[in-house]
Amino acid sequence: MHPRDIGLDTMSSPIRNAFLPHYLYIPLQQHIGSPAEAVVAPGDVVSRGDVIGKASGYVSVNIHTPLPGKVIAVQDHVTATADRVPTVVIEVEGRFSLKGQVSRQTDAWKSLSRDEIISRMKEHGLVGMGGATFPMHVKYSVPADKKITTLLVNAVECEPFLSADNRLVIEHGEDLVTGIEIALKALGVNRAIIGFEADMPEAVARMRGLVANRSNIEVLVFPVKYPQGAEKQLVKAATGLEVPSGGLPLDIGVVVSNAGSLVALKEAVVDNKPLFERIVTVTGDAVEKPGNYKIAIGTRVADVLAEVGLKKKPARIIIGGPMMGLAQYSDQVPVTKGTSGILVLSARRAAVYRHRPCVRCGKCMTVCPMGLVPLLLVSRVELGMDDEAKKHGLLDCIECGCCSAVCPSERHLSQAIKLGKLRHVAKKREAAGD
Ligand code: SF4
Ligand code: SF4
Repeated sequence: MHPRDIGLDTMSSPIRNAFLPHYLYIPLQQHIGSPAEAVVAPGDVVSRGDVIGKASGYVSVNIHTPLPGKVIAVQDHVTATADRVPTVVIEVEGRFSLKGQVSRQTDAWKSLSRDEIISRMKEHGLVGMGGATFPMHVKYSVPADKKITTLLVNAVECEPFLSADNRLVIEHGEDLVTGIEIALKALGVNRAIIGFEADMPEAVARMRGLVANRSNIEVLVFPVKYPQGAEKQLVKAATGLEVPSGGLPLDIGVVVSNAGSLVALKEAVVDNKPLFERIVTVTGDAVEKPGNYKIAIGTRVADVLAEVGLKKKPARIIIGGPMMGLAQYSDQVPVTKGTSGILVLSARRAAVYRHRPCVRCGKCMTVCPMGLVPLLLVSRVELGMDDEAKKHGLLDCIECGCCSAVCPSERHLSQAIKLGKLRHVAKKREAAGD
């Protein structure tokens, strides 16, 4: 399936520089794994790029401040997943440049060893920026019994509305190529594939031009089809190989990284710049100036909206895209490393789901890219029969939202399945005594 493509309104919007909030709310948990530990306290003065949270374990990364200022609190604050997590609050003040570090193209990084590149990933707080926020150094520390052959670069960005990666490739294509070279060195492989969707012609042309003389980097263009950018779907389309149920791409020799993550890798390794800001698509029918903005991590959505302006009363704010994004109950949530989009809809555009009884049409089943039977999964989850749901592939669901989008009864299918998966994780943690 492919939802009506309403992303084109920002596809040609050049990246605009960050604006300055008065306060930053920087969560210490922006990644999968253990939260970073605060290394600052109220009253401390910090400079742009300082570490304010230290990685607390192997699956954890450092957190940095994007702007200078004074720490005024370390307190719990709400995030886009509705969790309250320890957060460093900074009053922005002091001297700094809005333009950020100067982007360089030097070959000095080539003298770094694989281990040095991987430790730079952790130090500079790199995580998967496509939404998964899995620490990059863990993904690139491939176990000795796995043989990697291919780096797959995800530039597909198939969610309607989102166009940040499209602009990043067009405007920072050289940085992406350098990021790919660094990633290849970290993995010890020599083959990369960059995957695009067919509705990104400018980005495709740009990248084809940049890699024309490199036989080890291939550009592939896939049909416009949601969820083409989902990891398992992309691996299948690019390599013809299928990731086994419950497995990872590395089980079949592939490491997948989002294009934005690889630009961040270049900035960390070549420019010595930590991951403390990112490109975010801000759009929706309620937004006055939709576009792609470079936003400091820790900026609250309310401050972003004050800057981009609202032309209609917002009825729904979604962090991410309309298919997989999370509806928010507060505009106080901050932009984090995993925030690819902020979608603001008026009452006219915000779908109101009425959740009527199932009419057994089977549409949810026919669109599921994982070959699951959503209706069946949901009934098991609703009855608390989690083991049964697992037998029917609960954990294979990629939460793409296709089933909910096509259901004529407007049932909350993907949401219910997601709930079942969360319950499974909570039970596992409880059993492990976490
Ligand atoms: S949300 Fe899950 S069950 Fe529904 S279509 Fe996507 S993969 Fe299938
Ligand atoms: S799409 Fe909705 S109505 Fe149709 S079978 Fe699935 S749950 Fe039932």
